[in-house]
This record gives sequence, C-alpha cells and structure tokens, in this order.
Amino acid sequence: MTATLSGTELAAGIRAEVAAAAADLTAAGTPPRLAVVVATADESSAWYVRSIARAAQKTGIACSVVDLGETATSERIGAELAALSADPAVHGIILQTPLPPGAVFADLAASIDPAKDIDGANPLSLGRLAAGLPAHPPATAEAVLVLLDHHGIPLAGAHAVVVGRSTVVGKPAAHLLLQRDATVTVCHSRTKDLAALTRTADVLVAAVGRPELITAEHVGEDSVVIDVGTNPTPDGGLVGDVDAGSVTGRAAGLTPVPGGVGPVTTALLLQHTVASARG
Ligand code: NAP
Repeated sequence: MTATLSGTELAAGIRAEVAAAAADLTAAGTPPRLAVVVATADESSAWYVRSIARAAQKTGIACSVVDLGETATSERIGAELAALSADPAVHGIILQTPLPPGAVFADLAASIDPAKDIDGANPLSLGRLAAGLPAHPPATAEAVLVLLDHHGIPLAGAHAVVVGRSTVVGKPAAHLLLQRDATVTVCHSRTKDLAALTRTADVLVAAVGRPELITAEHVGEDSVVIDVGTNPTPDGGLVGDVDAGSVTGRAAGLTPVPGGVGPVTTALLLQHTVASARG
C-alpha cells in the first residue's frame, strides 16, 4: 500500500498564513511585492511565471513580471536585478530560467540582494545554507523537507538518497536533509549502479529531469519517494521523474505529480516574500 503524499492541502494552509501576514503588512504600510525577471520566450517558463503571479495576487502579494525579452544581454539582466535589489518597495526577487545563450545563472543571481533572494538563487545563499547560517533556501528544495515533515516522515538517522545534484534542487535538498540528521547520498549522471544505491534509501528524492526514470527496481520496500520532477508531456500534461505506476504498491509513500512538490514550492516562495517584507 503506497500512501499519496499530497502537497495541495499543505500548500493551501501555507497560502492562508501568507495571506494573513500580507494583509497585516499592507495595513502597516508595507505591501509585500515580488518581482520576477524573465528573459526567455519559453512556454513552460511562461506557464510557471503565470502560476506564481496568480498565487501571489490571490494571497495579497503584488507581483511584477519584468520581461526583458529573449535577446536581453547579461549586463541588462544584471542591472535590472541590481535595481530591484535597491528598490525598497520590492521584497522578493526571482530570476527565471532559461536565460539567453551565454548568460550564467549563478553570476547574474549574485546581483540579487540575499535578503530578497526568496528562491535561494544567489550563490551566497547556498553557501550560507551549507554553512548552517540563516538564508532563504531554494523553495523547491525546502518543499521536499516541508512535505516530509507534514506527512510525519522521520529524518534523523534515515538514509536519504537524492538523485540530482543541481544547485537549485539536489545540492540544497542534500544540505537541508543533512541539517535534519539524515545520512545523505547524492547521485548524478555518473553514478554507477544507481538502482543499487537508491534501493537502500529510506527517503528517495528524485530531482533528475528525466521522465519516469525511477521505477520499481530503484525503490526499496517501505521507502518514501519524493518526486520533484515536472516534465511536460506532448498532450500538455506533466509527468514526474518517478514512474508512479511502477512504484505504487512497492513504496510506502509517493508524492503525486502534479499536486506534490510543485504547489508547496510556490507557496514557500510567497512565504519567503512576506518574511522578507517583515524584515
Ligand atoms: P538539472 O539542473 O537538469 O539537474 C538534473 C540532475 O540530474 C543533474 O545533477 C544530473 O546529473 C542528474 N541526472 C541526469 N540524468 C541522470 C541519470 N540518468 N541518472 C542519475 N542522475 C541523472 O535539473 P533540476 O533543475 O535540478 O530539476 C530537476 C527536476 O526537477 C526537473 O524535472 C525539473 O523540472 C524539476 N523541478 C521542479 C520544481 C518544482 O517546483 N516542482 C522546481 C525546479 C525543478 P549531472 O549533474 O551529472 O549532469
């Protein structure tokens, strides 16, 4: 029996708390504001940005989408991030990917004021996270932990295997799991015998970007599987990095896609924005 570890109710609860905090901040003269800097015509990116803007507006957070166009130079993007960082009316900044060819995400994200870096994109934020200092973690990585906590999954002493080592998901998720006293193994495209490692996980986090890569052969009995993957399908749907059909019946728990990590990630971005507005 595999439990569905949904994120939708959890996300709704976070959004309700955010809405109350945003109303208090607005009444006190500090209306929270989020800015999303876009330099792409990518349709799945546009869909993601629209969903953040909608969620922000529903919770009383103003959201400006600053579309610089897909031919924007690194200088232009960096200048915009610096200007938003200096603007006292802006409390949260997101730099959307993909970026124009030649633009380096980490270099540009270094222009985001760490206090407004609500998606943990500035390399300083990841460094502070690794050093155990206060920082906004990338919202997707934090969503993994918030989901595990919400569903009562114990982490201290558990073996957590993270598949993926990106700076936005895999590495920060590994740091957050370590902070919670899990024993963490990080796998990537050069890992030998992935399935032999992942089968030993109590908690398996799939953040690969390969549709349905993780199947029953990768999953130990009674393990909990968090599927971070959001891979668009030709019919306009989404599939995760986990083959849910194959894993269901073997794992103890599995997050659905959609309805798992995704809505919690968005809710946490808003939570970080009101935290930043509170100062
Ligand atoms: P990424 O930057 O492309 O990183 C993918 C990672 O997976 C890399 O570390 C790569 O290894 C590893 N990998 C690739 N193929 C592998 C294989 N066959 N076996 C083992 N490891 C493999 O992707 P990302 O930005 O971390 O995103 C991962 C997934 O999460 C994507 O599906 C993305 O859409 C999704 N995502 C979801 C949210 C959300 O809110 N739900 C937010 C962000 C991302 P190397 O380092 O060796 O190349």
